[in-house]
Amino acid sequence: MIGIQIGAVSFADEGVEPVLDILQEKASVNTLFIAAFTFGRGIAGRQIPGQPLPDHGKQQYDTGTFHGGSYAALHSQYYADTPLKNLRAPDLGSFDVFETVLPASRKRGMKNIAWFEDVFRSDIPGIAALQERDLHGRNASTLCLNNPGYRNFLLGIVEDYARSWDLDGIMWSSERQGAFANALGSSHGGAHEDPGRVTCFCEFCKKRATEQGIRIERAREGFLELERFVRRARSGTPAVDGYYVDLWRLMLTYPELLSWENLWHQSLRDTYQAIYKKVKSVKPAIGVGWHIWHNNSFSPIYRAEQDLHRIAPYSDFLKIVMYHNCAGERMASYIQSVSRTQYGGVPPDELLQFHYRVLGYGNEGTYDQIPHTGFSSDYVLREAKRARAGLSNTKTLLWPGIDIDIPTAADHSKSTPKGTEDAVVAAFHGGADGVILSRKYSEMKLTNLAGAGVATRQLGLG
Ligand SMILES: [Zn+2]
Repeated sequence: MIGIQIGAVSFADEGVEPVLDILQEKASVNTLFIAAFTFGRGIAGRQIPGQPLPDHGKQQYDTGTFHGGSYAALHSQYYADTPLKNLRAPDLGSFDVFETVLPASRKRGMKNIAWFEDVFRSDIPGIAALQERDLHGRNASTLCLNNPGYRNFLLGIVEDYARSWDLDGIMWSSERQGAFANALGSSHGGAHEDPGRVTCFCEFCKKRATEQGIRIERAREGFLELERFVRRARSGTPAVDGYYVDLWRLMLTYPELLSWENLWHQSLRDTYQAIYKKVKSVKPAIGVGWHIWHNNSFSPIYRAEQDLHRIAPYSDFLKIVMYHNCAGERMASYIQSVSRTQYGGVPPDELLQFHYRVLGYGNEGTYDQIPHTGFSSDYVLREAKRARAGLSNTKTLLWPGIDIDIPTAADHSKSTPKGTEDAVVAAFHGGADGVILSRKYSEMKLTNLAGAGVATRQLGLG
C-alpha cells in the first residue's frame, strides 16, 4: 500500500488525470487518501501562506478563498440528529472530489480512502452547543466527543460517505489530548497551551465522570491547583522540593487529575468504536482506521495513551505518524515546553537525552541541532518496529505516515529526495504494511515526492 494524502484543490487546480499520472509515475502511489472533510489547512487547501509554493499546482495562495467543510456532496437525511447541517465546503464551487476523482482512480486500479479530521471553525451555525467547555466554563474551539450532537455528526458523515460513494476505506483523525497533558504543555507547541483553558468540563463529560465515580469538585480543585503550578513553573519561581516532586504531590493529592485525563481518551476510543461499528453496519468491506498524532513520538504521557492492542479490535489499519524531518523541530518544541513545567530546572538537552532513552530512540542529535537536522530514518525504523510489536497477534495493518515537505521554520531542516527515500525504506524494513505520504500533495515538491518512487523500486514494490 503506497498511499498519499491529497486535497480536492489539487485535482481542481491541476486536473484529475495529470495528478494521477504524477502520483503513479513519481511515487508508485496505489491508494488515495482524499481529504474529504475538514476546516483545517493541514490537510486541505493549497500551500500554507508564508511557506514557499511547490513546483506544481497554481502558483498562488488561497488566502482569500480557503474555507473548509465537505469537498463532496452531503445528503441531509444523515444529519437529522445533529445541529451541524449543510457543511459543504464553498471553496471550489460545485466541484465534488468524490464524483470527479473516484471513477478515474478506480479505472487505474487505485484504491480510495475518505480522510477527515475533527477540526472546525467557530463561525459555523449551531457549533457553540457542541464545543468543549474549559476549566473556567468558557467555550473552547474544539468539539466534545461526549456531546451527542457532535457524535451524531461523526456517525452521520461516515454513513453518508459509506452509503453514497464507492470507497475502500475511511480514516479519521483527532489530534488532541486530555486536560492533564494539555495543562502541562505536553506536546509540540505545548508552551502556548493555557493551563486555564484545558477541557472538557461540559455537562456531558461531568455526567460521564459522575457515572464512573469521579468526584467532579475534587477534579476541578485539582486542575485549579495544576493551573497555578504551571503558571509558577513557567514564571521561573523556585519550588522548594522542585517541580517534578511538586507535580507528584499534586497527583497524589488529586488522583482525579489522571482520571479526568483518562476519561478524555476513553471518550476518543468510544468514538473510534462507534464510527467503526457504523461503517461496518453499512458495508463491512470498507476498511476503517485512524491517524495517530505525532505527539506519540514526543510525549511519554500521550504514548502511554495510545494502547495499540486495545484499539486494534476496532482498527483495520493505523496511520501512525512518523514524520522524520519535522520531528526535529517538533521534539525541540516539546522539550522546550515541558522543561518549563513538570521538568522545570532540568536543562533542555539533558531532558532530550532522557527522552531518547525513555522512548527508545538512538541519539538523534542535541537540542540545538535537531531543528536543523530533523530526525533520521533510524527513528522511522525504530517507530515502525515498535508499532509492529505493539500490534502483534492482531489483524490491524500498519501504515506509517511519512513526511514530505511538512512546513518547518525557514531556517530549519527541509525534506530532501534522499530523506523521503530512506524513510520509506525504513518503514518497510521496520515491518510496515504500507506507507502514507503526508500531509498533503499541495505542499509537496515533486522532487521530494519522487524519493518515494526510488524507495518502492528499490524494495521491489514499484
Ligand atoms: Zn465535554
